[in-house]
Amino acid sequence: MGSEFHQLHFLLVPLMSQSHIIPLTDFAKLLVQHGLIVSIITTPLNTIRHKAAIDHLVQAGLKIQMIPLQFPSQDVGLPQGCENMDALTSMELAKDFFVASEMLHVPLEKLIGELEPKPNCIISTNALPWTQRVAQKFNIPRYVFETISCFTLLCSGIMSRANVLDDMVSDSDPILVPDIPHKIEFTKAQLPESTRKTSSDDIQGIIDQIKQAQKLARGTLANTYDELEPFYVEGLRKERENVWCIGPVSLCNKEFSEKSNRGSKASIDEHFCIKWLDSMKPNSVIYACFGSLCHISFPQLKEIGLGLEECKFPFIWIIRGHNYSAEIEKWLSEERFQERVEGRGLIIPGWAPQVLILSHPSVGGFLTHCGWNSTLEGVSAGVPMITWPMFSEQFYNENFIINVLEIGVRIGVKVRMKSAEEEAMVKRDSVKKAIEKVMGEGEEAKRRRERARKLGKKAVEAMEEGGSSYKNITLLIQDVVQQDILGRELSSS
Ligand code: UDP
Repeated sequence: MGSEFHQLHFLLVPLMSQSHIIPLTDFAKLLVQHGLIVSIITTPLNTIRHKAAIDHLVQAGLKIQMIPLQFPSQDVGLPQGCENMDALTSMELAKDFFVASEMLHVPLEKLIGELEPKPNCIISTNALPWTQRVAQKFNIPRYVFETISCFTLLCSGIMSRANVLDDMVSDSDPILVPDIPHKIEFTKAQLPESTRKTSSDDIQGIIDQIKQAQKLARGTLANTYDELEPFYVEGLRKERENVWCIGPVSLCNKEFSEKSNRGSKASIDEHFCIKWLDSMKPNSVIYACFGSLCHISFPQLKEIGLGLEECKFPFIWIIRGHNYSAEIEKWLSEERFQERVEGRGLIIPGWAPQVLILSHPSVGGFLTHCGWNSTLEGVSAGVPMITWPMFSEQFYNENFIINVLEIGVRIGVKVRMKSAEEEAMVKRDSVKKAIEKVMGEGEEAKRRRERARKLGKKAVEAMEEGGSSYKNITLLIQDVVQQDILGRELSSS
């Protein structure tokens, strides 16, 4: 890796959500490996969570730091300590969280004024449009880091412009996305707020600001790779200038310690976890995890557990801390679930070392909620998926996995999950059947596995020296250098 850029200082600002902080921290790592100085802006509690990953890089002599700014959660009525979207008890509070995030512009501007060396650019995730103003104030370029695929960006753009929602009379009418080579259909009930005409004024306001700021940004960084979605990358390049695909960024984690420290401290001893996986046959284990934000009710969790039990494959099942209620704990022990699956089922309540698990050869299938990071991590590991989209843009990702990449099986949900859902939307039988289809020995299952394996190999190649994403990171750095020269010339003339 080069060290010719050693004086360049990149400022990275993620939205305080695991699905933004984690990939931006991975990306920061890739940048420092190119010889840059990188500062990541976050809050005190998030700094503690990600400390191990940063310390690891600092110890290796790389110039990286995480700078905490006080998050004004209480000023907007959020509880003290609510510094990450995974601490929100309901998605209704997301609006307040965005307001608090925007209030960070004051301490951020103060910080930039004091930082040495002066930052040469801001790279911030799409959900922080106000960072565009901050960049302009300091006369440095801002690049948007997209945490979703080019497929989703392009399709949602087409859907908004074509006013297809006006043609949708009911929530369940399927509508075909026009002008793309794949047959992709959605119903209104599956679409995220950003493409639904029913968005509330508050949400609409944020979406409009994101779009405006994106138009003013110098470029777009997409956490994907050119070879994964060539039509959609090209399509986005026709709509936006300077689109660089720089992922999958999770592949920067090569060592055991890097994979186990990623995102948070794992709720399981990683060595035990690997030993457990080592004791299983290759491609035999199902890994079930639903990201960092989902709220899953007790009845639904029970159906997931029973589906995993009935399918007879070994499994690792992550129950997110917020969903791990006294009720579920009681069920696991008193109704002897844990005892019944002893030796073949590993339950992790809390945070799992996802990339470490997915990259183990014993994992043969990923039951996922289709968050973009998880989707891409599944692709990178070459693992076929069982798709269970819940909210946000996850139905786009499901369509991408099933109809574009053809490496998955749907669990069969038709509508977005409501946060206070008490009924189980998906019954144990659907869980079992979808898993058996993915893990099966039929021709279709074998072809799916082979396609997934090839995509995983291409992902690794894209990130290697000379690969497409590696080259795109170099192009981004060169662009920052050019912008810096241009800025100096302008200020001296
Ligand atoms: N993740 C993890 N362990 C967990 C849960 C999640 O490492 O127990 C990571 C996962 O690898 C991914 C991120 O958290 O990088 C979740 O992002 P995604 O976009 O998949 O979903 P979201 O959390 O936004 O729903």
